[in-house]
Amino acid sequence: MSKIARFIIWICSKFTKNEIEQIIAGLLDVLEDRNPEVKPKDDFKEKHPHYRDFSVDPLAPLTEPPQPKEPLPLKDYKQILAAYKLTHGKPLSPVKYRATSPRVPQQIVCACCNAPHRYLYYNDGIKRTQLRCKVCHALFQANKRFQKGKKTRYYCPYCHHALFTWKQKKEVTIYKCCNDTCPHRLQKMNKLNEREKTLAKKRSSQFKLSYQYRQYHYQPHELTHAEPGQPTVDLAKIYNAPDILGLILTFYETGRRGRPCRTCLANLIF
Ligand SMILES: [Zn+2]
Ligand SMILES: [Zn+2]
Repeated sequence: MSKIARFIIWICSKFTKNEIEQIIAGLLDVLEDRNPEVKPKDDFKEKHPHYRDFSVDPLAPLTEPPQPKEPLPLKDYKQILAAYKLTHGKPLSPVKYRATSPRVPQQIVCACCNAPHRYLYYNDGIKRTQLRCKVCHALFQANKRFQKGKKTRYYCPYCHHALFTWKQKKEVTIYKCCNDTCPHRLQKMNKLNEREKTLAKKRSSQFKLSYQYRQYHYQPHELTHAEPGQPTVDLAKIYNAPDILGLILTFYETGRRGRPCRTCLANLIF
């Protein structure tokens, strides 16, 4: 039995027919907006439980780009280097960069033989999307999303994408994952009901779906209480009853007419 059905039975057990008619008339006034003081309960929040439901994401962001999960290298650069030395009588020298050519970041290794970054160079200049290995001569794509950009400080702990600076305020910087296919975002999306999914298309900012990290620009020990100025009078030490104090405060409120009385009474108790 629904709670409404149970409530109707309860009403019938407590009220007469005449009283129930009065209740119905009162409820009709509310439904037809004739009662300015009573409005039906807004069930928007019940229908949209995730609307403005802002919570702190439990995982901290990564501060270094993780290594991409590439297929295992097919060759071993150490073996190739050893073979080179045997054949040529000297070790293979690392890449000699021109002053203007871009450097390969330290965390990138050859996708084929695992050779470190000093044996790699960009094959397409400033585009920096394609790398060539000097050891095994393999050509492979630079996985841009894992590269540490100049401005990148944090990475999403769920999808490893670089977080972008979403909001910058004096006291806090908010970083956000912008990957639409981030597993964290998809999981949050799946929790939305159909009504929320429709509303999220119009008011996406009101649903917290993407991973966020808030970096506050102060330490906990720097937080101090906002303290009002010390009062000149300690009300705990007055000698008269609280109703006299109430009277004085009333005179303060009533302005000029009460001034002589309030001064007189204040002198009595302080
Ligand atoms: Zn290689
Ligand atoms: Zn993510």
